[in-house]
Amino acid sequence: MVVGVPTEIAEAERRVALVPEVVRKLTGRGLEVLVQAGAGERAIIPDALYEAAGAKLGDAKSVWAADVVVKVAPPAESEIAMLGSGTLLIAFLAPLTQPKTTLALAAAHATAFAMESIPRISRAQAMDALSSQSNVAGYRAALLGAEKMGRFYPMLMTAAGTIPPAKVLVLGVGVAGLQALATARRLGAQTTGYDVRPEVAEQVQSLGAKWLDLGIDAAGEGGYARELTDEEKTQQQKALVDAIKSFDVVITTALVPGRPAPRLVTAESVKGMKAGSVIVDLAGESGGNCELTKPGETIVVHDVTITSPLNLAAEMPEHASQLYARNVSALLELFLGDDGELALDWDDAIVSGAAIVRDGKIVNDRAQATVDAVDAAAGKSAPPAKAEPAAKAEPAAEVEPASKAEPAAKARIDEAEDD
Ligand code: NAD
Repeated sequence: MVVGVPTEIAEAERRVALVPEVVRKLTGRGLEVLVQAGAGERAIIPDALYEAAGAKLGDAKSVWAADVVVKVAPPAESEIAMLGSGTLLIAFLAPLTQPKTTLALAAAHATAFAMESIPRISRAQAMDALSSQSNVAGYRAALLGAEKMGRFYPMLMTAAGTIPPAKVLVLGVGVAGLQALATARRLGAQTTGYDVRPEVAEQVQSLGAKWLDLGIDAAGEGGYARELTDEEKTQQQKALVDAIKSFDVVITTALVPGRPAPRLVTAESVKGMKAGSVIVDLAGESGGNCELTKPGETIVVHDVTITSPLNLAAEMPEHASQLYARNVSALLELFLGDDGELALDWDDAIVSGAAIVRDGKIVNDRAQATVDAVDAAAGKSAPPAKAEPAAKAEPAAEVEPASKAEPAAKARIDEAEDD
């Protein structure tokens, strides 16, 4: 079986889907790996290292015709046009935000798996690319806060007097938020975390950070937060105006899957912050958690720097690619039989959960709903749902229980530390 690794063509996408360490493992398993010449260049991985690991080099056309193509960013239409008939695609496909990609894959009669749709169950932890890449983004966000602020993170006691430690607040403490808290604390900052899922308090405190309680409980399904009601949103925004004032750096990572990012930091909150403070808004791709955020830009408003980098994980391409490649390899392993050939078990919750399009048919209900919503907005009548029945979804009980949350959180942070 041949696994193809194309060069990422999206602007600023510096990651690559497989790294030599993982290529070696796959070729050792009897697979052939075909890497597009130069695919690792922007992650500083020369072709020679891929060849030394047992990969062959090829051009885009041959790579896209492999049995399985693995990539990072959602494919452009020009890439989908190169997809071989019968080729499986594994990548981030943004099924809840980029219905055009889903439709193009369906039109190409493709079979495609989205890394972000892998169910977040214990068995799939090694495949969890959302977590591995969020770890990278959270780490980078803490560093960005330190870099953009004209102050120290740690307390300094010097002959010239004492400098107090910086105060860092993280709003939205999922995987990225936990890593941001841990990194800021390692650099000596005083850290505080806030989330609408109450079980996060224990995880935040386990990292030596304080917990900010605003009295809103919005735990949703599958370990995610639900969207707040309008009343709760107003309550939260008002409470944050006061809470934010004393912080030097505010890192926001709050997301609700498939929804615009919640607005946590209003213009009034920004106005109340000390001059020289910094907001790092990681939710820019979904519109931003701060009312004043300009996604992809760094601006200064009311003497506060607001930066909202997009695709932050791609700015640390070596380790981001390494972790991603391991996630992809774990998923590939599930797709293979003992003989190293494809043997997809469509009854497996991970296989069926990750599939967005199967032989040209949209088989993920949320991807289908996203496509339907665009049709409805355009005034077309929505086609009947072609999605897999909900009964096939992973039982909620298999989601990491809250009581296990703290060690799981630590494990995820250790994952990045070990690498
Ligand atoms: P995410 O990126 O979807 O969201 C980031 C954080 O924003 C979440 O903690 C969410 O609660 C928070 N948030 C949403 N709306 C908010 C609001 N209005 N105000 C404040 N905070 C808000 O989250 P994620 O990092 O993908 O993690 C989501 C969940 O999945 C977590 O519970 C995590 O522990 C869990 N998880 C489980 C596994 C597993 O294998 N069992 C693996 C990874 C993550």
